[in-house]
Amino acid sequence: MATLLLLPGDGIGPEVCAQVRRVAAALTPDLKVDEALYGGASYDTHGTPLTDEVREQALASDAVLMGAVGGPKWADAPRHLRPEAGLLNLRKAMDVFANLRPAYCFEALAGASSLKPELVSGLDIMFVRELVGGVYFGQPRGIEDLADGQKKGFDTQVYTTSEIERVGRVAFELARGRTNKVHSAEKSNVMESGLLWKQVITELHAREYPDVQLEHILADNCAMQLVRAPKQFDVIVTDNLFGDILSDAAAMLTGSLGMLPSAALGAPGKPGLYEPIHGSAPDIAGKGLANPLAAILSFEMALRWSLKQTEAADALLAAVKAALDNGARTRDLGGSLTTTQMGDAVLAAL
Ligand code: ATP
Ligand code: MG
Repeated sequence: MATLLLLPGDGIGPEVCAQVRRVAAALTPDLKVDEALYGGASYDTHGTPLTDEVREQALASDAVLMGAVGGPKWADAPRHLRPEAGLLNLRKAMDVFANLRPAYCFEALAGASSLKPELVSGLDIMFVRELVGGVYFGQPRGIEDLADGQKKGFDTQVYTTSEIERVGRVAFELARGRTNKVHSAEKSNVMESGLLWKQVITELHAREYPDVQLEHILADNCAMQLVRAPKQFDVIVTDNLFGDILSDAAAMLTGSLGMLPSAALGAPGKPGLYEPIHGSAPDIAGKGLANPLAAILSFEMALRWSLKQTEAADALLAAVKAALDNGARTRDLGGSLTTTQMGDAVLAAL
């Protein structure tokens, strides 16, 4: 029996994960759904955002689905014990190096977007962001005192050939199932790691994926093009830092933060880590206002990529579309449904 580990976390995390539980019970009754404390909730109980037990439980499961972590309550916790540190540690432990972040616009919402409908209608971008390397993890890093009384803060961006190759491979494979087009974004004009990135992607493409259309793009130009003409993109592969920024910008093309899921994948056969891209949203936590669709769509990605239940994933995606077509809207989408009522709408469509 396949196992999904739910880590509801903090803020609206538990609220949106409760809807995932309901959907899983209806759609995949054979799936074993476990639950554990994580993030600030774990810090409050165990003094750490990620216990060894939960890390082992995650590694032993088939997929992990997180709600959200963090909030003002833990802002003063020591840096290495903050909820966000638990997130980075879990990603590292699971070695989920490829972060899949779709930016697509549901047709029912295209007209309601704060952006021009012609710009976003039919938008379907898949970011493949490197997730466990680069400047977020590179050594040395730190804040040091200088002789003149100043301080210096520094980080190191490092990528190796194999780190670039494995994430590049995920992007090219994905492209084959889509429109066969990959943009690789870096800053090879000013960064050595960017130059290596470009070289490795070029060689991998020539060697294994000559059938895929590859274009190199400077990350700053990519940002501009995403705002100017986003529909020119299909798959965009990029490093950890640029991927963080570019995918957040693209997310807003789709209207609401409450709509978008993400997946983080490791080596084939290893569990993937799934999470809505929104944060813990402390401003609306506990009020039943959160849109659960990002979490529900994260479950859809888990079904597709880790649990290999493609039919169930297709059915769930269709149910979300149907619910939106039927007018189901939480407050972030301009409606008045509660979190549970949006769950009801998806279940009814299922
Ligand atoms: P984090 O640092 O954890 O990523 P953040 O500061 O980026 O957090 P979010 O927690 O994602 O921000 O919230 C940003 C805004 O979007 C808030 O006003 C929040 O209420 C809203 N929001 C986020 N997620 C949802 C959701 N699922 N449904 C409705 N509104 C949401
Ligand atoms: Mg955020």
